[in-house]
Amino acid sequence: MEKKLAIGVDIGGTSIKGGAVTSDGKVLDVFSLPVDKSLNQEQTINALIEVINKYLKEHNYNKDNVLGIGLGVPGCIDTENGVVTYSNNLDWYELPISKMISEGTGLPVRITNDANAATLGEAKFGAGKRYKNLLMFTLGTGIGGGIIIDGKLYEGHMGKGAELGHTVIVMDGEPCTCGRRGCFEVYASATALVRETKKMMEEHKDSKLWDITSKLGKVDARAAFIADREGDPYGHILVENYVKYLSQGLMNYFNIFRPEAICLSGGVANEGDYLISRVKKYCEERNYGYKGTPKVEILKSEIGYDSGKIGVASLFFEDRVENRPSKRLGAAKKELEGCDTSLETLNSIPVEGFDKE
Ligand SMILES: [Zn+2]
Repeated sequence: MEKKLAIGVDIGGTSIKGGAVTSDGKVLDVFSLPVDKSLNQEQTINALIEVINKYLKEHNYNKDNVLGIGLGVPGCIDTENGVVTYSNNLDWYELPISKMISEGTGLPVRITNDANAATLGEAKFGAGKRYKNLLMFTLGTGIGGGIIIDGKLYEGHMGKGAELGHTVIVMDGEPCTCGRRGCFEVYASATALVRETKKMMEEHKDSKLWDITSKLGKVDARAAFIADREGDPYGHILVENYVKYLSQGLMNYFNIFRPEAICLSGGVANEGDYLISRVKKYCEERNYGYKGTPKVEILKSEIGYDSGKIGVASLFFEDRVENRPSKRLGAAKKELEGCDTSLETLNSIPVEGFDKE
């Protein structure tokens, strides 16, 4: 059999999920195991090796038809040496995970952190597949980030950059788990929206939020959006404020990277166009030099749940992102037409792929 599969393994704080992934990004068969917190880090990896070996045997996967195993792990990862330097979710320190799994399964292993894994999945096979310059933001418990520059994943020195949730947007603001105050994720994660919703409920006992959260069975990030849709003024204030913080944080990244697109994933991104249309409007009204600057597309993730698995498996496939022409350039050039600046400059810059359009 031709080698065209890789095994993608997405390691989370409560469970480990994996599966064989084809070179066009399809997940074939899956396995999972819970993370048993009573086991130490070596015991957890040994349990994972056992599950992988059983899975490989059951599906007749071996080194003849599988290129390798990709791992996505939350935390600080030394990608070069395959070591989990520190993962606070898993309580792992200096764990040589790639070497252990490679020796245990007989297959090569590649590794990146979970946010980068999801970014790769989305960039290669999902919403970001048309773009060479892309940022991804996962709006969940915190804000996970990923950076694709000129088709390549940018991970920073020793794979420890791209912490996009930890830039300060409110000086001396709310405390963050990273030790600073006022970080982007403290204002634009799902956790932040829940905190603000609880505050609003305490201050306004007449808000529909009380009814809505009682039906949901808890206060979660959906409540503010439901209340806003139902015309509750307090829900509306929560959503407007959330959009403001999210957009201000995103615009900082627009100005640093000027990506062609950004992709939003995670729980809050499930609000889809209701959220994204507001963020677009906010950004377009305030975006730096907007009339002379290409607009940044704002997208909702298409893959979601499987993007981590697919992303790490794709570490073994030829780099489809790197080799793609920038499809957005034609559109960006049209946007600039009519502006008295930039067009000449843009035309003078040779850009690979543009002439093919
Ligand atoms: Zn922080």
